[in-house]
Parts: sequence; structure tokens; C-alpha cells
Amino acid sequence: MLERAIVIGGGLHGLSTALHLARSGWSVTVLERRHVGRHSSGINAGGVRRLGRDVREIALAQVAHEMWRNLRALVGDDGGFRPSGQVKVAENETELTALEHRATELRALGWTHEEVVDRAETRRLLPAIAPHVVGALVVRDDGAADPMRTVMAFRHAALASGVAIEEGASVLALERTAGGNLRVVADRGSWEATRVANCAGAWAPAIARSVGETIRCGVKASMMIVTERLPRFVEPTVSTVARPLSFKQTAAGTVLIGGGHQGRADPATETAVVDVRNLARAAGIATELFPLMRGVRILRSWCGIEARTPDDLPVIGESTTCPGLVHSFGYSGHGFQLAPAAGAAVAEIMMRGRTNLPVAPFAPARLIERSAA
Ligand SMILES: Cc1cc2nc3c(=O)[nH]c(=O)nc-3n(C[C@H](O)[C@H](O)[C@H](O)COP(=O)(O)OP(=O)(O)OC[C@H]3O[C@@H](n4cnc5c(N)ncnc54)[C@H](O)[C@@H]3O)c2cc1C
Repeated sequence: MLERAIVIGGGLHGLSTALHLARSGWSVTVLERRHVGRHSSGINAGGVRRLGRDVREIALAQVAHEMWRNLRALVGDDGGFRPSGQVKVAENETELTALEHRATELRALGWTHEEVVDRAETRRLLPAIAPHVVGALVVRDDGAADPMRTVMAFRHAALASGVAIEEGASVLALERTAGGNLRVVADRGSWEATRVANCAGAWAPAIARSVGETIRCGVKASMMIVTERLPRFVEPTVSTVARPLSFKQTAAGTVLIGGGHQGRADPATETAVVDVRNLARAAGIATELFPLMRGVRILRSWCGIEARTPDDLPVIGESTTCPGLVHSFGYSGHGFQLAPAAGAAVAEIMMRGRTNLPVAPFAPARLIERSAA
């Protein structure tokens, strides 16, 4: 008999988990409250970045990197992924020293993907960068992809592998059946399975709470700006050491500016509102680093809702209160890159109760709220 799994949430993590399960022969249904890619997965900055990651995340990000390089083999499309590089610039000598320490720390741990470059090489990589920039930390084969194209590629691949995707199905509760299975109750029906994945993004902690598990996790409301089209002037994605910035030019010539500037999110109404003052800050940093941006018109801005953990690391692993339920959420602003590999890890945990993929640092137990009693 086919093993059955339910995946709650049709973001990139839910779709990736579903795809890996289905490819291993499981019968899988994804329940998505709105439509796939409705929240963070469809509207993020598309950064495919190992640069600057928490050292506990690097091993999984490396696995994901290999999958991005071969994404067409996995899902039939490259998701628009281009290994155009990621560059973190130093605006003074103190920051450059900090970057050198970081690269040394990583080398001591056996990671060699981050490389410090001097002023001249930084200028060669970023001809339009402001003159005060003194150097940078670079990962040459990181890059960027198109978020919605990637989501759609995973959706198509999942469907082609036999996954059923139920859009407009909002999960309300989980119940244990008399036979020991899990029943997932949604607003328009219920589904039974031996394993359930909680990939509900900012709403995943509520799913955990519904089975008596309080996982410490808040929300983020990251904003993005997109400008009018400009002639090509920058290839890599650019960030800075001390100021929040993510800056990239898309294939169409528009410039995407983000970096974690926060708007206001209300998970209860599924809305996120841009904070104009913070947005102006993001634009200000961008023009200070790329003076040619002065006077460029902003076409649109938006804000997304995402789960954020206290240590900015995801929650990946089996529930501590509900055997058979596996969590995958709390990607804290950098989960797009991890999705191909995290989905594989979650699928293995669901199928075998364990995985050799490097997800041990993300176990839910570290964030369980203990009652004061
Ligand atoms: C503006 C912005 C920029 C970002 N830039 C980057 C970047 O450059 N690089 C990077 O690596 N990461 C980036 N991120 C982070 C990245 O987008 C997220 O980490 C990732 O998309 C999380 O995917 P997910 O599938 O866990 O969540 P989501 O995409 O939020 O998906 C969760 C899904 O669950 C559904 N759902 C919720 N509750 C229920 C329920 N009860 N029943 C059924 N369905 C439910 C929701 O409708 C939603 O579709 C960015 C995020 C934002 C907001």
C-alpha cells in the first residue's frame, strides 16, 4: 500500500518536500490556503546566497547550491538561476578587517567558498560602486533566481510526479485517528496520512501550537523596491557589512533593492504594509553605494510575511509532541536558497525518521517554550 503524506503550505519548502516525497514513491497532497507561492516564496528577492551565512547553515546551503546548479535536472527548469556572484562590500578598513576574519574563520572550518578581494578587484566586479568602498567578501558562484518562476517549476515537477495540490484549503486542526494516523482538518474537507509536514511559513507556529507545542518564533516583514529599467551596470548581487542592503539588477534591467528593511506584518489578516520611512532608508543606502541610482524612479514596493526565529535559523525536524508531524519553517529571511535541500531533508525525516543531510542544528527542541511552572 502507498504511504500517504500531507504537506501543509504550498510555498517553496512545501513544494520541495512534496516533490522529494513523491519521487520516493509516496502519495502526497499539498494543502495551500491561497495559491502556491502566495507568500514569501513568490515575492522574495531571489538571492541564491551562501555568502555570510551562519556557520551552522553552511553545510545545508552547500547541498542546496549543488541542487541549484542542476535545478533543470531536478524540476525541468533552471528557475532563472544565474551564478552571477554575491559581493559583500566593506566601506572602511575596519569592515574589511572583519571580512578577513570571517574568511579565515571559514577556512579553519574547511569552507573555501568565501574570498576577500581588494579595492581593485571590487571595482572590476562592480564598476559603478562608490569610491569609498575599500574591498569585499565574494562568493563568485552564488547568484540569483526568479522566485515565481522557481515556485512554478517546483509546482509543475510536483504535479508531474503525482502530487495533488489543493489550493484554497486552509488547515484548521490536526487530529490523531483511532488507527494512529494523522487527520488534517481543513475548511473544505479532511485528509488522512501517516506523516504530515508543517511548511506553513509565518503560520507554522500556530500549527505547532495546535498540537500543544509552543515554538519560539516571531514574524518578519521584509520590504522590496523595484526601479525603472536601466542599462546594464551590475552583475553580482551586492550587500554591505554594516548596513542592510541587497542590491541586484534583473535580466530586464530593473533594480531590486531590499536587505531586510522592515515594514509591518499582520499574520492574522495575511497583510504586510510598507513602511515608507524604512523604504527611504533602503533607497538612501543604495544611492550612497551606487551614485548612478540618484534620481532613478521607483516603480513599485512591497512587503512579505515570514516566520523569524530568535536565532535566525530554521526549524527542521519532527514535532516534540506529535509523532509523524515534521516541521519546516522559520527560514528568517534566507530560506529561498535552502529550499531544494531542506525539502529533501524533510522528506527523508518523514519517510525514515532521520536524514544524513546536515539539519541537526535546526531541531525544534532548541526553541520549545517551557512553562514557568
Ligand atoms: C521580501 C523578501 C525577500 C526575501 N529575499 C530572500 C532572498 O533573497 N534569498 C533567500 O534565500 N530568501 C529570501 N527571503 C526568504 C524566503 O522568501 C523564505 O525564507 C521562503 O520563501 C520561505 O518559504 P516557505 O515555503 O517556508 O514559506 P511561504 O512561502 O510563506 O509559504 C507558506 C505557505 O503556507 C500557506 N499556509 C499558511 N497557513 C496555512 C494553513 N493553515 N493551511 C494551508 N496553507 C497555509 C501560506 O498561504 C503560504 O503559501 C525573502 C523573503 C521576503 C519576504
